[in-house]
Amino acid sequence: MRSLLWLGLGALMWAQQDPATRALLNKYDVKFWWLNIQATNTSTQLGPSWVLTRLEVTAPELDTLVFELHSSLTVDSVIVQGTQRSFIRRGHTIRIPLSPRPTQGTLVEARVHYRGVPPSGQSSLVGIFNRQSPTWGNQVTWTLSQPFGALSWWPTKQILADKADSVWTFLTVPLGTRAGAVGVLEGIDTLSGQVRFRWKSRYPIAYYLVAFSVAEYVDYSFYVTIPGLPAPIRVQNYIYNNPQTLPTFKAEIDTTAALLRVFSQRYGPYPFWREKYGHMMAPFSGGMEHQTMTTQGFFTFTLTAHELAHQWFGDWVTCGSWQDIWLNEGFASYSEFVALQALGTPAAAQSWLVSTHDAVISEPNGSVWVNDTLNDARIFSSRLTYDKGAYLLHMIRFRLANDSLFFAILRNYLSLFGGGAAWLRDFRSVLEAATGESWADFFAQWYYGEGFPIFTVRWNSQGGVLWLSVSQTGSWSSSVPFFITPLEVRLQRQGASDTSLRIYLTQPFQTFSFSGVGTVSGIQVDPAYWILRRIDSVQRDVSLGIKEGEAEHAFFLSPNPVKKGEQLFIQVPTEGRITVYDLQGRLFYEAPISSTESWVVSLTPGVYQVIWTAPQGNQLHRRLLVLP
Ligand SMILES: [Zn+2]
Repeated sequence: MRSLLWLGLGALMWAQQDPATRALLNKYDVKFWWLNIQATNTSTQLGPSWVLTRLEVTAPELDTLVFELHSSLTVDSVIVQGTQRSFIRRGHTIRIPLSPRPTQGTLVEARVHYRGVPPSGQSSLVGIFNRQSPTWGNQVTWTLSQPFGALSWWPTKQILADKADSVWTFLTVPLGTRAGAVGVLEGIDTLSGQVRFRWKSRYPIAYYLVAFSVAEYVDYSFYVTIPGLPAPIRVQNYIYNNPQTLPTFKAEIDTTAALLRVFSQRYGPYPFWREKYGHMMAPFSGGMEHQTMTTQGFFTFTLTAHELAHQWFGDWVTCGSWQDIWLNEGFASYSEFVALQALGTPAAAQSWLVSTHDAVISEPNGSVWVNDTLNDARIFSSRLTYDKGAYLLHMIRFRLANDSLFFAILRNYLSLFGGGAAWLRDFRSVLEAATGESWADFFAQWYYGEGFPIFTVRWNSQGGVLWLSVSQTGSWSSSVPFFITPLEVRLQRQGASDTSLRIYLTQPFQTFSFSGVGTVSGIQVDPAYWILRRIDSVQRDVSLGIKEGEAEHAFFLSPNPVKKGEQLFIQVPTEGRITVYDLQGRLFYEAPISSTESWVVSLTPGVYQVIWTAPQGNQLHRRLLVLP
């Protein structure tokens, strides 16, 4: 979801499900939903409608079958396994006592007949809306159930991890209108004074991604060929039937084709290619990633990209808990940048990055992880869930320093968890398996932790040696006092081109020295906005390096440059650790070292950073090693 006018609901709290209801809902696994709904584009009122749920009992036995349905809707009857049953309305549930009790593994079919006027107003239990478009004049009824609003228009089960294997949405609507929904339009039936749209989808789906909208639409469809897919993908758009609407948005809608190709190439083929991708217009200020049929109020490049990316991140893999909404919104938001990098100008991509960065650091605290899942203003916080969430992926990409690995990790995650739900631990395990290292610090400080580093940087250049002194505090230091992070430093040099170094911060205060970089006339800290940070000052300090010089001169590599296969002699000031990175920050070697050592060089040609760290980690010096 991307909403430009998110109205904070912080004051409106509710209990999503009481524990007893949740326990009953967890006694079965939804297999199939078949919605048969009578609706109009003139109000949210639902005529006689029914929903069939096919489910499998997963508890030893099912004493009470529970569905969630808002108390303002009327239930006419409930039929279970072909027999009409009595039921109890309690809160926003329907409870159906079962006797005899079906046992574990039994498939049960239940049909709930209902009708009425759904709730309205500002509450996250409201998921159906009616409004006239202020721009286009068209009258629309549409649904937007995320996070808890499905129960306001159909009897459902609002548990993220329980996806149905398939869903049918049959919509009976007034003649002259069209109803859009998930999956493939299998047919349109003319009834007396009404018309029925039969939509069928055979992909797994979470409850909040089931949707429809009804209005006077035109169907604007085209096909997109994706390399590696056996058939082109239909892009089916339900656009207001209005002489100006399609001409206004046609170029932006057509961009969906290029976006489908970009994301298919980066993330793997569009997951729902057997059915379609599409848009249905509704008069709200943003978009909602309904599976195979996104609801959008208008069309802009980043909005269309965001909602399309959700088809991979959110729809194909759905966050298992609202606490981990990052897996939906952080990834879809970062995909806006991925799309701009592929299809926009470098300036547009950079501008997206800087404005996202600055939005995050406009306040000092807050975590990506959602600690209050009953508060949808927090779940959908644009600064934390969307902007900071997007930046986490950018920082992962920076730390990996390898774009093909970054996208391979995203594809691994999608192929492992596609069709189901995922939690943070799942993404983290894919990341750790691919890199062979722990990302515990990363998630502790950036995901669960709050704030960002604030840097003060001093530097000096003398005798061909660059000195850097970096001190940092966390902007919310009670949560994260300092950040362990790589940091890029760009050097302007006299008589040589600019170059970049990557340093690794592991302490609140660290001094680095680099020899062989020439005479540095100026530095820029993180000029490309790779990490979340505030830079308070970057100043030349001519005293820097004078005192540290003793250790500096006691660390040298000889010969340098050195050829592969030659003996390299290393002297260090005291015993400590030696690490060798390339200039992209990839680690090649790490070992303890005593005072002197010699190696036979086995590195491939290139420029490497050889770093000596004192045993207490309080001193660190580096040399550039050149292999011609
Ligand atoms: Zn979104």
